Amino acid sequence: MSWIEDPAFTADEPFGPQTLPYGVLPGGIAVRVGDQALLLRGLALGERLGPLVATGTLDALLAAGRPAWSELRARLVEIVSAASAPRGAELAGLDGAVLPFTVADYVDFYSSRHHAENVGRIFRPDGEALLPNWTHLPIGYHGRAGTVVVSGTPVVRPHGQRRTSAGPVFEPTRRLDIEAEVGFVCGGPVASRLTPSQAVDHVFGVALVNDWSARDVQAWEYQPLGPFLGKSFATSVSAWITPLEAFAVARVSPPPLGNDVLPYLVEERPWGLDVDLEVEWNGVVVSRPPFREMSWTFAQQLAHLSANGATVRPGDLIASGTVSGPARDERGSFLELSWGGKEPVVVGGDERTFLEDGDTVRITATAPGESGSVVGLAEVVGTVSPADER
Ligand code: CA
Repeated sequence: MSWIEDPAFTADEPFGPQTLPYGVLPGGIAVRVGDQALLLRGLALGERLGPLVATGTLDALLAAGRPAWSELRARLVEIVSAASAPRGAELAGLDGAVLPFTVADYVDFYSSRHHAENVGRIFRPDGEALLPNWTHLPIGYHGRAGTVVVSGTPVVRPHGQRRTSAGPVFEPTRRLDIEAEVGFVCGGPVASRLTPSQAVDHVFGVALVNDWSARDVQAWEYQPLGPFLGKSFATSVSAWITPLEAFAVARVSPPPLGNDVLPYLVEERPWGLDVDLEVEWNGVVVSRPPFREMSWTFAQQLAHLSANGATVRPGDLIASGTVSGPARDERGSFLELSWGGKEPVVVGGDERTFLEDGDTVRITATAPGESGSVVGLAEVVGTVSPADER
């Protein structure tokens, strides 16, 4: 029996000892243990590990690389599994978690075939649903690191330019949407030209991402260069980063692309992940997107983004792209769920298409862990605030 007495700290709960995600609370770096957190500042972790967790951010730990990550995780498993509280152990509540690392670069991919086909059909009804490059490379764009915010941060309805029959107007968006995604937090030495198997050692952990999107702004601005102001106003991430090591059992092969890929994108053993997402809109579950349906893995995404010599550095956040499955109730955006606003979604008795002021969206996820346990990804939640006055 662990000295941590918490009904949520068991192997069949998402934040049991098999998960131990890292976050930053007012008391410093912590790992989540059920519905509370273990602060690391007072623990005797030694000369090598101690300084990595003595600050108010995960930055030093991210930079330290895989051997330090593994050593620290093994040590923490020992500590939380002990029968009596080790010296310096201090538990805290989960309130007040901040963005736990400095986001270096933010890249957003587009790796769900179902999402790409749905968006293609909605935005380009007369064209091919999937563009010809999609099965040959992980499509992505460079996003805006400075507006990545921690779960719980209110999302102000953005202004933007949209097209009307009388010409463009600048107003608060009328089509505010979500994108349910899985994010990969990078670390280790600065590197480029990674193979997929090398790329894995540059991923510290996994978090949920909500890539808030203004669809009317996006539809007008995105051609020919892709997303810009329709995406950059806010991107929310979980407050707790689940270490990649917790996902060993969840590893699966992604669905086939239907063609060979070039050698630099070939994975010996693929890094698809069997993660089940759940999207709640004002407390009502409206979708359960399956991450195992993603066609490109994070290892291929990192190999691709660094293939031209571009660097991967600690704090880079790599988002998967909207996770959508083949069924209607597996779609990871309201654009798809409402089919471009034409098929409203019933949310607690109300018919909805896009987000209204005051709406709250919460995304959670779980994956299979060792010995039948459940590995959790911490929620990413956000509530829409009205647009600014001007
Ligand atoms: Ca996205």
